[in-house]
Amino acid sequence: MHRNRLDNHILPTVLFVDMNSFFASCEQQVNYWLRGRPVAVCVYTGRHGCVIAASIEAKQRGVKTCMRLDEAMAICPDLVPLETHPNRYREYHVKLIEVLKRFSDDVIPKSIDEAVVDLTNYQLVYKDMRQVAGQIKQAIRQDVGDYMRCSIGIAPNAFLAKLASDVQKPDGLTVITPDTIDDVLRPLKLTDLPGIGKRMAIRLENSGIYTPLDLRRASPERLKAVCKSIVGWQWHVRLNFGGEVDLAVNEGYKSMSAMRTISPGQRTPERLNELLQSLCLTLERRMVLNGVFCQSMSFSCRYQTDKTYNYEVDFPAPIQDGPELYRVISERMAKFQLVHRCEPVLNEHLRSMCVVVHKFIPADSVPLNLFEDTSRKDKLRQTLYTLKNKFGDDKLIRTTELTTNPAYRDVIGFGNIRDL
Ligand SMILES: [Mg+2]
Repeated sequence: MHRNRLDNHILPTVLFVDMNSFFASCEQQVNYWLRGRPVAVCVYTGRHGCVIAASIEAKQRGVKTCMRLDEAMAICPDLVPLETHPNRYREYHVKLIEVLKRFSDDVIPKSIDEAVVDLTNYQLVYKDMRQVAGQIKQAIRQDVGDYMRCSIGIAPNAFLAKLASDVQKPDGLTVITPDTIDDVLRPLKLTDLPGIGKRMAIRLENSGIYTPLDLRRASPERLKAVCKSIVGWQWHVRLNFGGEVDLAVNEGYKSMSAMRTISPGQRTPERLNELLQSLCLTLERRMVLNGVFCQSMSFSCRYQTDKTYNYEVDFPAPIQDGPELYRVISERMAKFQLVHRCEPVLNEHLRSMCVVVHKFIPADSVPLNLFEDTSRKDKLRQTLYTLKNKFGDDKLIRTTELTTNPAYRDVIGFGNIRDL
């Protein structure tokens, strides 16, 4: 995707498609007799089961995500509890992306039920973006499923398009332009903006920025000082049509590297392994954000003596998973140590280590059957549980929340998909 990312851009050419009550709608699509009824999708349907997705009808009756089933049944006695079918939702996701790709080559899946359709390079093709949104809704009903509804936001950048998609549910269509943005922001709290958590909100409030409108009007210099990083400037750009800071450009990366300098206190085998895992997860996140898989990797260590260890590998199949990268590196290190009967590669003299991935291919050209291999999935799951124990749930969820690899979704649990 080529686009001039940091030119002022005020034309609403980016569409954000958010499927409404996606899991529940998939169930209602498959089973005609569930349509029009309040449905709750749960991981298990025991008394204390937890609602992970409520149908549009159930939401209208007050059923909320994360409610316990006994609470939900008390509010809505004719609620139909259903167990999840992750494979089913993946199939619908694939169908959805196929439909969206008819409208633009620049389609970026953001989660199982959301995608950006960037029409910035199609301004000569589509004269009226609202009309395109209507056509997309129609195509979804015709070719994904006649019970599938979505809310579409249209704006000059991906962030505002997502925000616009939240304005009206279900079946919404909202456009944000320089003329309408203040009206959209006015009723919102800081934490209503995707990406602003409680901690960030407190930091902003302490600096006199209380609302999204205040945030929009704050100067980039002030925001940079408040956030103590480039993040502040990005908020200025997003809310003032300064260009695109959320859509990674697929081309332009020949390699990505993650490097770590090791301090003396970190030179224990456990800590070094954790650091290596976090490097791999960092690369995973960057590859996911950029929509690429890598076909080769190198791992290098530098020791206090200036000695180095270096290892390069080409993968038989493209890889995006951090744990998989980590597994390959660990296996190679173990083999190396065994064969050469040398000291551990990760030893107390380590000064820095670096993982580099290269030979990228776009995620959407990676055959889907890669995900169907259950032995691989199981292995991944196992690695993830190990990681989860090491890092704690939070960290793992953050590093994998944007992943498009379905294998992770089963592991992290559907409660988290809500946050994507
Ligand atoms: Mg949704």
